[in-house]
Amino acid sequence: MQSHFESFRAGDIIFVEGDAPANAFLIESGRVEVSRMWFGVRHVLGELGAGMLLGEVAVIDESPRMMTARALTPCRLMPISTAQITERLAAADPIVRMLLMGQVTRFRLMLATFTGGAAVSRVDVLDKPADADAVGKIRLEGELRVALEHGELEVFLQPIQEIESGCIAGYEALVRWQHPRRGTVMPTEFIRLAEETSLIVPIGDYVLERVCDMLGELKRRRREPLPFIAVNLSARQLEAPELVERILGYLYKRELPPDRLKLEIAESQIFHEAHIARLMARCHSVGMQVALDDFGTGYSNLGPLLTLDFDQIKLDVGFAHALDRPRGVLLVGAIADMARALSCDLVAEGVETREQHEILRLLGCRYAQGWLIGRPVTLEQVLAS
Ligand code: C2E
Ligand code: CA
Ligand code: CA
Repeated sequence: MQSHFESFRAGDIIFVEGDAPANAFLIESGRVEVSRMWFGVRHVLGELGAGMLLGEVAVIDESPRMMTARALTPCRLMPISTAQITERLAAADPIVRMLLMGQVTRFRLMLATFTGGAAVSRVDVLDKPADADAVGKIRLEGELRVALEHGELEVFLQPIQEIESGCIAGYEALVRWQHPRRGTVMPTEFIRLAEETSLIVPIGDYVLERVCDMLGELKRRRREPLPFIAVNLSARQLEAPELVERILGYLYKRELPPDRLKLEIAESQIFHEAHIARLMARCHSVGMQVALDDFGTGYSNLGPLLTLDFDQIKLDVGFAHALDRPRGVLLVGAIADMARALSCDLVAEGVETREQHEILRLLGCRYAQGWLIGRPVTLEQVLAS
């Protein structure tokens, strides 16, 4: 990162209209005048002072300088390298990047229109294609909003087996998008997108209500004992102070016992432990269980288990797959011991083979979920089985 300063005396030219941009500047002190030639006459467009950026537009869109910058007083400028700007732009949300590029393009077009000259032609400006990632993302987001209104989101149920008894004790609710053109779109593709906006809140509510409808239907069909359904919750849903009361409202409306709904919270979704602790205490007061999802993934640490009183730990898919190695067996055995010590039930996800299932049984893991037990299916398929 460049950190040296460049000094200019009053009257010095900092850069000239038409130059290729070497870098942008942060004005540390002094005042700078920006101007542009129009039919042989210089027009002053404005003055910039300490704390402001200078010359960043040409760096952002990698085009020639549209203005000349001149020091009005002694100035100290900190150069900002092209790499500093382009790396940040590359790492930014593609939609934010597209919004910025749109503004820069419009700025150049207006400047060319109102001050004449042709540092860029109208055609150059309008011909630049928009960022394909951003267009794809913004289109998908728009379609997802419509999908929610048109009932294109469907909740599937994946069975969770109690290993010792071999019975299906419950299900995990997994949402799918039945896209009119693309067919089934998996949540890995659209949940992250919904989480980036507030769209996850109505989607989450929709899933919760559908799950309560499903529990109601299972009860009406006299499924005994009534299986539980576990629902995934995202951080934005957890922020809502009335979340648990709303869930209880859905359950009571259908005369369902709260202990048949389980909440799954992934470690990556826990931002305010004190808030989650209050939410969990309220859940426990009505008998609703809360699971720590995706245990052992990403930047996972034991922090949440130290402070939060989870009822279940869900082992990420990778651990079941690691059971074909002695080290994997030792690690899952140690996690099973830890879960027992904390009075937590252990659920292994991604169980695909009989061997994995048998090892989990020997290690004392309570529940298994995975393709060996069953794939995610519709409620109709559950009722028909
Ligand atoms: P998750 O909560 O970890 O869900 C388990 C994922 O593992 C599911 O993927 C499931 O289909 C998959 N899986 C199940 N059994 C096996 C197996 O034997 N082998 C392998 N390799 N995979 C298996 P899916 O349905 O694509 O869901 C992906 C993620 O999307 C979920 O991960 C969850 O984080 C999120 N998600 C799904 N539905 C919802 C929802 O309603 N709300 C929220 N907030 N997130 C959801
Ligand atoms: Ca889950
Ligand atoms: Ca999981």
